[in-house]
Amino acid sequence: MSFERLAEILEKAEKLLLAHPLCDYCLGRQFSSLCYGAGNDEKGRALKLILAMWSLLRHKESGEIPEILKRLASTGFKPAVKALQVLGEESPEQLPCYICGGALTRQGMEEVAEKTSEELREYEFRNLLVGARVPADVREREDELRAAFNIDTGEDIKEDITRCVGSILQKKFKVPVEYQSPDIVILVDVFSGSYELQVNPIFIKGFYRKLQKNMPQTPWYCRRCWGRGCEKCNYTGREYPESVSELIGEPALKIFEALSYKFHGAGREDVDATVIGTGRPFVLELKHPRRRFVDLAILERAVNEGARGKVEISGLEYSSRRELRLMKSLSPIASKTYEAIVELDGDVDEGALKLVEEKFRDIVVSQRTPRRVLRRRADKIRQKKVYYVEAEKLGDRIVKFRIKAQGGLYIKELIDGDEGRTEPNIAEALGRRPLRIDLSVIEVEHPKTVS
Ligand SMILES: [Zn+2]
Ligand SMILES: [Zn+2]
Repeated sequence: MSFERLAEILEKAEKLLLAHPLCDYCLGRQFSSLCYGAGNDEKGRALKLILAMWSLLRHKESGEIPEILKRLASTGFKPAVKALQVLGEESPEQLPCYICGGALTRQGMEEVAEKTSEELREYEFRNLLVGARVPADVREREDELRAAFNIDTGEDIKEDITRCVGSILQKKFKVPVEYQSPDIVILVDVFSGSYELQVNPIFIKGFYRKLQKNMPQTPWYCRRCWGRGCEKCNYTGREYPESVSELIGEPALKIFEALSYKFHGAGREDVDATVIGTGRPFVLELKHPRRRFVDLAILERAVNEGARGKVEISGLEYSSRRELRLMKSLSPIASKTYEAIVELDGDVDEGALKLVEEKFRDIVVSQRTPRRVLRRRADKIRQKKVYYVEAEKLGDRIVKFRIKAQGGLYIKELIDGDEGRTEPNIAEALGRRPLRIDLSVIEVEHPKTVS
C-alpha cells in the first residue's frame, strides 16, 4: 500500500479545518478509530503537525503562505503560530472550536476531575463509571460535519470525555471502571464545568426475629389522620410507635452515612405475631451511602443493642439488587413454619390431636380471603398446601401447634376456620372453638433453599 490512503486522510483533515476551526480533540476524534492507545487530542495534534510541515514545504516551493497554516494558527496550534512569526506574518485571530466551542481541553477535563474528586474523597467505592453530558447543539454540529465530509472513522464525543476524565479519576483513586453495576456513576459536563454523583445503593441481607407483639414490619400511619397527627393517635400520626424496619434501618442509616433506606421483608407477619426461630429473611437497601466497607458485625451489634427485647438480626451479608428481586419473587411461595399457642373453649384429648396431625399431613386447604383482610385483598378462594401440623398439649384446653404451610396461607383462619371460609380447618377437626391464638413465625424458607 502506498501513502495514497494517508494522503486522503490528510486531505480530509485539511478540508475539515478550512471549513471550520477545530480544536485538537475535535479534529482527532474524527479519525479516532484509525489508531488506539492515544488520546484524540494527540491524534489531532499529529494531524495538525503534519499539515503544518506540509504547508512549510509548499511555501518553500511557491513562496505563498498556504491558507491552512493560518487556519492552524487560528486554532491556537503553537507550531503554526511560530511558523507564521518566522515568516514575518501576523498571527490570525484566535477562533473557538466549531464543535465544542473550546470546552474540550486537557485543563478543563482536569479541572472537572479535580472538582469531582474532592467530593468523591468523602465516599467509599471499589469501582466507578464516568458518563458525560453533551449539549444537543454540540452533537448536532458534529453530526452535520460528519455527514458533510463522509467521516466514518469518528468516535462519539461522549467517549472522548469519559475516557479522559475517567482515566484521571482512575489514576487518582486506583479503582477500575465498572460498566455493569458501578458503585458510583459520575456524570461530568465539561461544557459547564459541573458534575453530578450518582451513588448506587448497597444491599444487606439477613434474618430478623421479632420478639415483641404489636409491632408492624414497616411504619403504620394512623388510620384516621394518615400521619398528620390527631387525638386518636395522640398526635404521633402512627398506629404503633415502632416498627421492625425502623429498628433495623435507622442504625444502618447512621453507620453507612446513607441518605435513606428501604426495608424489604420476605413477606410479613401479622402485627400481633412474633417471629422467632431462624427468623424472617430481609434485604435492607441503603441509598446514597458514603460507607460501603463496613464490617456487618458492627451493624448487627448496633441493631441488637438498640432494639434489645424487640428485634434481633442475624446472618448479615452484603447482597445485591438481583438477590432482592429473587427474594421478592420467591417469598410469596416460600413455605413458612409457625408456632401457635391456642386456647380452646373445651378440653381436648391426645387422641383428637393425633387425628388432627394425621388429617393435616400434606393436604391442600381451600381458603377464601379472610374477612379481616377483605378490605385490602380481593375476595377469592386460594388453594394452599399444609405440609404438617404437630400438636402438643400444654394444658387441658391449651395446645401448641407447629404448622408448616405454603406461603400465602392465613394461619389463624386455618385454625379457627373463619366461619367455614377455610376448609378443612383445625377447629372443626377438633370440635372445639379457639378463644385465643398466639402466633409466631419460626421459620421462613430462605430463597437460597428454594430449588
Ligand atoms: Zn473542540
Ligand atoms: Zn392520627
